Amino acid sequence: MSVLSEKEGKIWFNGKFVPWQDANVHVLSHGLHYGTSIFEGVRCYQTDTAPAIFRLADHSKRFFNSAHIMGMSIPYSISELEQAQCEAIRANHLSSAYIRPLAFYGANSLGIAASNNPVHVIVAAWEWGTYLGEEGLEKGIRVKTSSFTRLHVNVNMCRGKIGGNYINSVLAHDEAATDGYDEALLLDHNGLVSEGAGENLFVIQNGKIYTPQLTSVLEGITRDSIMVLANDLGYEVLERSITRDTLYCADEAFFTGTAAEVTPIREVDNRQIGDGKRGPITAQLQRDFFDVVQGKGKRSAEWLTPIRVGS
Ligand SMILES: *Cc1c(COP(=O)(O)O)cnc(C)c1O
Repeated sequence: MSVLSEKEGKIWFNGKFVPWQDANVHVLSHGLHYGTSIFEGVRCYQTDTAPAIFRLADHSKRFFNSAHIMGMSIPYSISELEQAQCEAIRANHLSSAYIRPLAFYGANSLGIAASNNPVHVIVAAWEWGTYLGEEGLEKGIRVKTSSFTRLHVNVNMCRGKIGGNYINSVLAHDEAATDGYDEALLLDHNGLVSEGAGENLFVIQNGKIYTPQLTSVLEGITRDSIMVLANDLGYEVLERSITRDTLYCADEAFFTGTAAEVTPIREVDNRQIGDGKRGPITAQLQRDFFDVVQGKGKRSAEWLTPIRVGS
């Protein structure tokens, strides 16, 4: 197994690139102890002309919003961080990659008061394949409803990609994986379907597409992309409450996320969904999604930031 921390390459760390294996932090960092960090997950895809980052401006906006929700001030501008992400692709000679910007509180003091600490910012990029497996993209995955409830909006801020929030996701995913499933499905505090451990959910019934409203789910950029692509194809997408049994009886269902991309769901809680394989509308949206990220879609120009290599 290749170990992430032992890769060769460069990581942008507080304004400059450092060798991959030197990108270390002190063990008394506030972010490490209390999860006081915010992050993004961004993908860069190879297109016919150049590597290109998908919806960079939207990821940047969410990164700064996550910091704002946390009350954390980022000591760099949006354009500095966008440049760092483009540079991380170039410096590591990548074409298709996952990019991880992260900001966290450092090691001045370990009281609960976070803002006594400096804010450190990093950008790392590395090659990363499909998150839920090639086979999952094609045949669909098996999902189990979690015993863990999705974060309540007044317990943790669901709109931010905030480090500490992911304990909920880790517990849910590990439970599902231990029981032999590919991913967990979390219900909100009202018992309604919310999302996967790191993916938004879509359900298709009678040619209409549904997704839960933005209450206890993360505002996914892939979620938004799929809503736009579905509208472009003439489908109606409705944001509404979805119950577990609605999902059981759906014609098709799929997860979306930067990591998971568009992954069909073939089974929930040991009940087959639709025909138990990737459904036709899911397949069409998946095709359109991969076209657009690879520079072959109507919205590619709008959503891709090409990276000029060698400049
Ligand atoms: C990141 C994330 C998603 C997906 O968001 P994208 O912007 O599509 O990557 C969905 N749910 C959770 C909990 C997430 O952290």
